[in-house]
Amino acid sequence: MADKKKVGLVCPRCGSIMNYQIEVELKHDGTRIVYRYYRCPVCRYKIIDSVVTIRRVNGKIITEARDGNGRHRALEVYSVSNKRYVQL
Ligand SMILES: [Zn+2]
Repeated sequence: MADKKKVGLVCPRCGSIMNYQIEVELKHDGTRIVYRYYRCPVCRYKIIDSVVTIRRVNGKIITEARDGNGRHRALEVYSVSNKRYVQL
């Protein structure tokens, strides 16, 4: 019988399986920042997977995604028309 394989990211510090978590930060100007990261339940080590900033500028919604190293991954612009988001 094969061992049941653990899935998930292994903590580089202590070798535990890390949890995947999502956190949303709401700024005073309405900007939302969505953090996706792995957190070790044992030693609290944290690895950022992506950071998505969602802003409203001149009636448009701009989402900007970066990876854990701050490198740009994607920029999307939506306009709000008839309460539907249309990607521009
Ligand atoms: Zn750990």
